[in-house]
Amino acid sequence: MTATSGTVRFRRVSRQDPCPVCGKPDWCRVFDDGGVQCMREASPIVCRGGGWLHWPDGRAGDWRDRVFPALPAPVPRPTPTADPVLLDRAFRALLAACPLSPAHARSCTSAG
Ligand SMILES: [Zn+2]
Repeated sequence: MTATSGTVRFRRVSRQDPCPVCGKPDWCRVFDDGGVQCMREASPIVCRGGGWLHWPDGRAGDWRDRVFPALPAPVPRPTPTADPVLLDRAFRALLAACPLSPAHARSCTSAG
């Protein structure tokens, strides 16, 4: 017998179609997507309605994997390097172009 739980279809196990996890003919159910809610064998995934979820044939992939494909790993940017002598000249030129105002110069010298 096939039924639905939300939008996922499932069938109850039976004597002719026992649970693929515990092998029993009752209490468990098998979903069309391959998941098995077994009421006897524990797994890391606990079902809200009781029992545990198993994927005996492996999980077909999470729907999020189909909607949002994995992005490629970011390529680390190389750390920029510069010649220290060139940097010194550049910063000295920058400081010369941006002199302190008299008020700022007094503030720097009076603060210690
Ligand atoms: Zn079972």
